Amino acid sequence: MIKTQLEEVRERIEAACLKAGRSSSEVTLIAVSKTKPISMLKEAYDCGARDFGENKVQELISKKPELPEDIRWHMIGHLQRNKVSQVIGKAVLIHSVDSLRLAQQIETEAARKGLEADILLEVNVAREKSKYGFMMEEVEEAIMLIKNFSHVHIKGLMTIAPFVENPEENREIFKKLFDFAVDIGSKNIDNVTMDVLSMGMTGDYEVAIEEGATMVRVGTGIFGAR
Ligand SMILES: *Cc1c(COP(=O)(O)O)cnc(C)c1O
Repeated sequence: MIKTQLEEVRERIEAACLKAGRSSSEVTLIAVSKTKPISMLKEAYDCGARDFGENKVQELISKKPELPEDIRWHMIGHLQRNKVSQVIGKAVLIHSVDSLRLAQQIETEAARKGLEADILLEVNVAREKSKYGFMMEEVEEAIMLIKNFSHVHIKGLMTIAPFVENPEENREIFKKLFDFAVDIGSKNIDNVTMDVLSMGMTGDYEVAIEEGATMVRVGTGIFGAR
C-alpha cells in the first residue's frame, strides 16, 4: 500500500517537474511519518525513502535508533527551546525556526556540543494567526542577526501554506516565498544560502514544485490519513 502511494507521489513529482521545466533531481521528497509506526517507516524505507520528517522531538529521537542510519531526519514541527539540545546532531535540517530566540538556542546548544546546525526560517507567508513563523517583513532582519552565528547555517526558507480545497489558491503564496528567496539569495550574505525552499504538502505539492519548491513534505499522500 505504501509502495503504491509512494510511487504515485514520485510520479506526480516527476510530472510537476516536467511541466515546470525542472529536473526532478532538484526536488527532495520528505516522507512525513509523524504518528506512524516504525513498521510503516520501514516499508517506505524499503521502497527507497531516505528523508523522513517528524514534527515532535520525542518522536524523532525515539524512532531514529529503530531505523537504518542512512536516513536523513528532518525536524519540521514547532520546536520548543527546551527541546533543542535533544535534536541537535539528530536532525539534518530544522525546517521550523520561527523566532530569533529559537535560533539563538540552537546556536548555544550546537556550540556546546561542538556540532553544526543547518536551519530554514519558517515564514508565515499567508499571515495566519494560527501559525508559527516569521512575518515576511521580519525575515531579513532575523537573517542579518543569525548570519553572525558560527554554528547555525541558514539554508533557505520554509512555509506551511493554508489548508485549502483547491491547491491553486496557494500558488501565490509559493510564488511569493520563491521570489523572496531569490531576492535574499542575490544579496550573497555570508553564512546564508537560499538553496532550500521547503514548501508543499499532500494537498498542494505539485503547485509548490511548479513555483520552485526544492523540498516537499508529504505525509497523508504516502502513509494515509492520521
Ligand atoms: C504534518 C505535516 C506535513 C504533512 O502533511 P500532509 O498534509 O499529511 O502531507 C507537512 N509539513 C508539516 C510542517 C507538517 O506538520
